[in-house]
Amino acid sequence: MRRQQLIVVGNGMAGMRTVEELLKLAPDLYDITVFGAEPFGNYNRILLSPVLAGEKSVKDIMLNDDRWYEKNGIALRKGEPVTAIDRRRRLVITGDGAATPYDRLLLATGSNPIVLPLEGKDLPGVVTFRDLHDVSRMIEASEKCKNAVVIGGGLLGLEAANGLLKRGMSVTVVHLMEWLMERQLDRVAGDMLRRSLEARGMTFKMPAQTKAILGSERVEAVSFADGTEVPADIVVMAVGIRPNVTLAKEAGLHCERGIVVADTMQTFDGRIYAVGECVQHRNQTYGLVAPLFDQAKVCANHLAELGYARYEGSRLSTKLKVTGIDLFSAGDFSGTDATDELVFHDPGRNIYKKLVLKGNRIEGAVLYGDTLNASWYFQLIREGTDISGIHEHLMFGRPHLGNSGHGAALGAAAMAEEAEVCGCNGVCKGAIVRAILDNKLFTLEEVRAHTKASSSCGSCTGLVEQILVATVGADYSIAPKVKPMCPCTDFTHDEIRQSIPEHGLKSISEIMAFMEWRTANGCHVSFVRPARRSRKGAG
Ligand SMILES: Cc1cc2nc3c(=O)[nH]c(=O)nc-3n(C[C@H](O)[C@H](O)[C@H](O)COP(=O)(O)OP(=O)(O)OC[C@H]3O[C@@H](n4cnc5c(N)ncnc54)[C@H](O)[C@@H]3O)c2cc1C
Repeated sequence: MRRQQLIVVGNGMAGMRTVEELLKLAPDLYDITVFGAEPFGNYNRILLSPVLAGEKSVKDIMLNDDRWYEKNGIALRKGEPVTAIDRRRRLVITGDGAATPYDRLLLATGSNPIVLPLEGKDLPGVVTFRDLHDVSRMIEASEKCKNAVVIGGGLLGLEAANGLLKRGMSVTVVHLMEWLMERQLDRVAGDMLRRSLEARGMTFKMPAQTKAILGSERVEAVSFADGTEVPADIVVMAVGIRPNVTLAKEAGLHCERGIVVADTMQTFDGRIYAVGECVQHRNQTYGLVAPLFDQAKVCANHLAELGYARYEGSRLSTKLKVTGIDLFSAGDFSGTDATDELVFHDPGRNIYKKLVLKGNRIEGAVLYGDTLNASWYFQLIREGTDISGIHEHLMFGRPHLGNSGHGAALGAAAMAEEAEVCGCNGVCKGAIVRAILDNKLFTLEEVRAHTKASSSCGSCTGLVEQILVATVGADYSIAPKVKPMCPCTDFTHDEIRQSIPEHGLKSISEIMAFMEWRTANGCHVSFVRPARRSRKGAG
């Protein structure tokens, strides 16, 4: 029997996740051809930030290499953008005019970064932050040049700025608003974030309106509405994204901000599906991976001709991938007259937590400095859980999720099977437990390799370890389950404080050497805070 032809346009995270889900459900239903504009296999775009920061290599972030496509009988046409769709004859057309027929078509064309219409925007040295090509251009600039200006103090802008700073550049972040990440953080958390980044050497100009990018042969400076200028050898524009709908629009598909899809992820042409950042669903567009993975599952269900799944939208949460800065935000945290706030603020330990309550439900959360309970709060928000029975403990975290390994494991055991653990890779608790039991896994590394959980931003690592402990008990290869003082060490604040008098440690460098610090100079947490204490005897 002739197999149906499925064509996927866009070799990115949403398109390939849909194909992976489809292969699980109906591996033999289609001959699959994937067209990708980029000249690579499928990579984890989220991890471009650690690649820029020098913490991961390009190889580390590949999700599916050429062998994966071959093994699954998928024809990968990389570096071949689709230029048109002939819906009447059911063909996709590529640059050389070649036509490929389809029975079903999946559009997963992602987004384009917004480029501000400023004078000088086309000068060499002005880059965006979207793909591997952008990252290579930034790395190249950091090897030759000194000054970087990043326009945009949101998630991407700060991750770009952190990467360039780590590569030795002098970095100024320009932000239009009064505090950083204003769409994810309130002013208190935004200001704490700014201070932490300033302590690492980042400079901020905010609130500030960029007027022009200056230079003759290439970028030389950025000028502002207040008349000032900042020198720049490279300018990164990180001011937002716009769904990439060009192809769909030209093919006559109904598009508004994104390609409009129904709950089945079908466009207005029933043979054409769409997933990912290019999509507009129930008037909502998305710029994070968790919703795209939900969409991929639903879309695969329909492509596999099972036809019962529905996508009903997603709740979002945000984390920042800057090593050593723990930050989390979810839901609506701004609050109204009809909401109450629970706030915990410990400036000495750089910890801030705010929960916004409406009646007996949590509407939103902002956590800075301690995100151990982030997944739990997110679960309570997503599921609209009635918190009246746990109201007074809420700020102190999940009941049972104390600092002891045993308590934490009990907390993990109590989690629902379908509770999401790793937002970056869309992995729920049930999938982790199944992988542990089916494959007899005993270490975090093994769980990462089998499930991808904790392999992206790393913020769910503690939770994955707790699930391991809860599942295999004493056989688990123990790793620290209490929160270390900072990423440079596995010791907690208390352990370090105790060691100082016990071993007569007199200086920061002695402490670092004795406690076998992983980094030469520490980070903003380990370096700045003990430095202040050392005047009082480093204790
Ligand atoms: C630096 C960075 C950090 C991020 N960090 C996070 C994070 O921490 N957490 C999070 O949840 N999300 C994060 N994101 C967002 C996340 O990466 C995206 O939400 C996700 O990649 C979108 O998947 P997609 O498949 O819709 O689009 P993409 O992954 O962009 O894939 C679309 C692909 O389609 C290709 N394409 C477009 N048009 C055509 C055409 N005509 N023919 C062929 N191919 C075409 C594009 O070249 C691209 O490869 C980050 C993004 C960036 C850039």
